[in-house]
Amino acid sequence: ARAELARSAGGPGRTADGVAVQLLANVGTLEDAERAAALDVEGVGLFRTEVLFLERTTAPTLEEQAEVYARVLRAFGERKVVVRTLDAGADKPLAFVEAAAEENPALGVRGLRTARRHPALLDTQLGALAAAARASGTQPWVMAPMVATAQEAAGFAARARAAGLNRVGAMVEVPAAALRAPQLLAAGLDFVSVGTNDLTQYAMAADRLAGDLAELLDPWQPAVLQLVGLTGSAGAARGAPVGVCGEAARDPLLALVLVGLGVTSLSMAPAAVPAVRSALARTDAATCRAMAAAALAADSPAGARDAAAGLADPGV
Ligand code: PEP
Ligand code: MG
Repeated sequence: ARAELARSAGGPGRTADGVAVQLLANVGTLEDAERAAALDVEGVGLFRTEVLFLERTTAPTLEEQAEVYARVLRAFGERKVVVRTLDAGADKPLAFVEAAAEENPALGVRGLRTARRHPALLDTQLGALAAAARASGTQPWVMAPMVATAQEAAGFAARARAAGLNRVGAMVEVPAAALRAPQLLAAGLDFVSVGTNDLTQYAMAADRLAGDLAELLDPWQPAVLQLVGLTGSAGAARGAPVGVCGEAARDPLLALVLVGLGVTSLSMAPAAVPAVRSALARTDAATCRAMAAAALAADSPAGARDAAAGLADPGV
């Protein structure tokens, strides 16, 4: 009965044998953040800042950005807040980021790459985050989207640190970044966070908006899991946090596999947190690793899921 109580209780994410796995919220607006702050989550694992500015036709100023970021940081107090710098382009066009005519926008100038053309946009945002850190008394964790190389990671880290930010990371959503995760981390990152939506799109060469490619876009694809595993091992080797902030994190069974692959935090829509928390509480770390190994050995997404499910506690 006591074990049942522990399972239904809230609080920080833990495996049955007590390994911490932070349970974080994905947010896109100030309202989302304020709602999430009132819930039993350990912080924000992905603040999609471009969502703040989808309607804008002119670039937001440093002051207006700093004001929103400070409010989000204050809402979470001591809790972790991972802010993603503007991810403009492809499926997230921003009117004030002049888009080049591209045949393949998903493979074009998007995410961190937009800073090549518009360096001031990134520096203004980093300045705004640093100002918000001073105003709120808490340091955000700051990460760049669509990093492909260690050079890009190093360049981003240098700019973020020059702005006064000291928890700097990158999203791993390009297969090259997962393959080179050790080099990315060694290039001056404190953490990485896997975006399974784009990582799946790019690993499987399947447009994430194409409904008829659903089987290829399944994050249970063993190839995708293998890339997450490379990232997890790289993080473990350096003692660096490895998050997952794509949709995969909200599937309780897959969350256990991700933990078994070395992931240390899971970020999702807040409504999904209780089910993931309870799945973790029923499963020890060794079982998560066994589930991960079984999923990697499968030859299809359905096979991976079945193999993992066969090892899970029936209550998951
Ligand atoms: C992802 O790609 O998995 C991710 C978290 O970012 P977005 O869905 O905003 O591209
Ligand atoms: Mg993405």
